[in-house]
Amino acid sequence: MKIICIGLNYRKHAIEMGRPLPSEPVVFLKPDSSILKNNKPFFLPGFSSMIQYETEVVIMISRLGKGIAPEYAHRYYDELTLGIDITARDIQNKNSASGLPWELSKCFDGAAPLGKFVPVSSAGDIRNIDFRLEINGKIVQSGNTSDMIFSIDEIIAFVSQYFTLKTGDLIFTGTPAGVGPLKKNDNLVAYLGDEPLLDFMIK
Ligand code: ZN
Repeated sequence: MKIICIGLNYRKHAIEMGRPLPSEPVVFLKPDSSILKNNKPFFLPGFSSMIQYETEVVIMISRLGKGIAPEYAHRYYDELTLGIDITARDIQNKNSASGLPWELSKCFDGAAPLGKFVPVSSAGDIRNIDFRLEINGKIVQSGNTSDMIFSIDEIIAFVSQYFTLKTGDLIFTGTPAGVGPLKKNDNLVAYLGDEPLLDFMIK
């Protein structure tokens, strides 16, 4: 399976990163070895001194598809959760400045913690879902899917021109503003609406 990630998909986050608003989805991939499941702890790696969280809605592809039209895209996913696109911001900044790719900053082991998947049908209108991240009981990031620059269906239509989507593939749909640092012993809890789907520790 593959993990497709969309960068800079919320206006205020693009602004906080000092980047122009994208005219088409910014796409990168994570390997399956970055997945962290079942609320297992994330261990801070020794190669970075600036590990940050990015809280994102994640959908799971439910059927094979390629070249999917936006109006049919909703047929290709039926479960979603929240995930954290863990980023070594120091490495990303250094590599971006040299025009190098993002893999070393976003694709390391554990860089994709995933919450419990829930049916899309239980989440209400997927184009208007509130989500948030609390660290040690304090809200640090909150977003609503209506603020996405490219909607989930537009993302599926776009990426499926390039990649065959397979059952079980995941799409991280971008983070709202408010990204920030992680430190040892932080407890992260991510909520979809008022339902906690992900709850894990930084070690
Ligand atoms: Zn991200």
